[in-house]
Amino acid sequence: MAEVSNKQVILKGYVTGFPKESDMEIRTTTVKLEVPVGSNAVLLKNLYLSCDPYMRSRMKKTEGSYAQSFTPGSPIVGYGVARVLDSGHPNFKKGDLVWGITGWEEYSIITDTQGLFKIQHTDVPLSYYTGILGMAGTTAYAGFYEVCSPKKGETVFISAASGAVGQLVGQFAKLLGCHIVGSAGSKEKVDLLKNKFGFDDAFNYKEEPDLNAALKRHFPDGIDIYFENVGGKMLDAVLLNMKLHGRIAVCGMISQYNLEKPEGVHNLFCLISKRIRMEGFLVLDYYHLYPKYLEMVVPYIKEGKITYVEDVTEGLEGAPSALIGLFSGRNVGKKVVVVSAE
Ligand code: NAP
Repeated sequence: MAEVSNKQVILKGYVTGFPKESDMEIRTTTVKLEVPVGSNAVLLKNLYLSCDPYMRSRMKKTEGSYAQSFTPGSPIVGYGVARVLDSGHPNFKKGDLVWGITGWEEYSIITDTQGLFKIQHTDVPLSYYTGILGMAGTTAYAGFYEVCSPKKGETVFISAASGAVGQLVGQFAKLLGCHIVGSAGSKEKVDLLKNKFGFDDAFNYKEEPDLNAALKRHFPDGIDIYFENVGGKMLDAVLLNMKLHGRIAVCGMISQYNLEKPEGVHNLFCLISKRIRMEGFLVLDYYHLYPKYLEMVVPYIKEGKITYVEDVTEGLEGAPSALIGLFSGRNVGKKVVVVSAE
């Protein structure tokens, strides 16, 4: 039975405040390239890993959360793309390509295969299964079409708009015929929104001393739909600028993830006065729509109607830095770590 070395990204201990590279370390161990006899586990060779903001919540001790805490001293766990090297499970065989929950390491033995999806379309970049064809894409699809109840001609605002999810929501909204404005944290990202993703307009929220005024400038008649990725001060300013019967899909609140005490929201009365529907959602509840989503998005990708920008780090050694970069906006597009050439 062949035994090979296995590089891993280990969480050293629970994290408070902003995560640092030194909260993680690279360790090398060994792994047997075979699943244990009689088990229904699969052995994966990891190819790409996805850096996702929700992973921050798993770096602290949580109880009763939808995302369990990581185990200090063990490899980090997250979404990835992998090749099956060996399988004791009837649904997977050697050579299959999969995306889903795996370890931040070169090889993973997965005993709970429920979080793995078999990859059917291989005539698109495989790394897309960490983003547009994976969790982020399903989030954008479900959040926009199912939660926002969008209609042609409506005004849509998206925060963290150039990221893994935001860039897709904008393009879906454009295909439907909405008017879209996005916010992002640099000039490079604002240019990307306007010139690559087809947003009607965009602004750098870091250069706006008054977010309420910025939103009024871009939406003189108000916002029908807000796709919420950041929370905090942006949410407060958006509430003041929503239209009557507007919808807010609460996808994430990244501005709050590293705070020990979350900021308050002051303008919630607008929900009543403007009859706004504000709804949180989790992609986990929408994976049954994944096949339908693929049917829509794969042709869009092939026809060039949807584009996807990735920000790639080569090698597991760069993974800790790649992950923490999400919280300072260092990533431009979907953050992906390449573990191994396909
Ligand atoms: P992403 O946008 O690719 O990366 C995170 C981005 O957030 C950064 O690039 C940065 O962009 C922005 N950011 C970081 N700190 C910020 C702060 N303090 N204030 C404002 N913006 C900040 O990430 P993503 O994967 O697309 O995720 C976007 C949001 O969706 C996150 O809140 C995430 O938790 C959420 N999400 C939810 C679900 C779900 O099931 N509900 C699923 C996936 C993702 P700037 O340079 O523009 O600041």
